[in-house]
Amino acid sequence: MHATAISSAKPARTSARGAFMEGCPVHLLRDKLRQARLRPTRQRVALGWLLFGKGSRHLTAEGLYEEAKAAKIPVSLATVYNSLHQFTGVGLLSEIAIEGPRTYFDTNPIPHYHFFIEETGALVDIPVGGVTLTQWPAVPDGCEVTRVDIVVRIRRLGEGEAVPVA
Ligand SMILES: [Zn+2]
Repeated sequence: MHATAISSAKPARTSARGAFMEGCPVHLLRDKLRQARLRPTRQRVALGWLLFGKGSRHLTAEGLYEEAKAAKIPVSLATVYNSLHQFTGVGLLSEIAIEGPRTYFDTNPIPHYHFFIEETGALVDIPVGGVTLTQWPAVPDGCEVTRVDIVVRIRRLGEGEAVPVA
């Protein structure tokens, strides 16, 4: 009788916890990593929490490393690089190379293009519908297009500076 009472109480507690865990971002993140076949190690979960917990954004490895340090997550820059490339490899992030070694990682999973603001180094999303490609180059034989990256470089105009008329 006593044992029955305990066993009947247990599933209730488990399901209450289940309901709580369903809405828990860390739990969702672990699932996301598992679905991507990445073992949800403490470091990956911690970095994923920083990456994906703030909506769509663009980050460099150095930027994420600084955030991790500020959040007191004990992680090396090399681990941050490795994790970002692993997340990218399984499609959780996309990589945007702007110039030289500068690489941004994008948490927005929806295909889109970018404005690059030269002074600040910030990226701003452009929806795919905001660009119309009227002519498409012939793809070399035996190849297919895997992705199209469009980066429109912009700068802020100085005071009194007008947009040149084309
Ligand atoms: Zn983006």
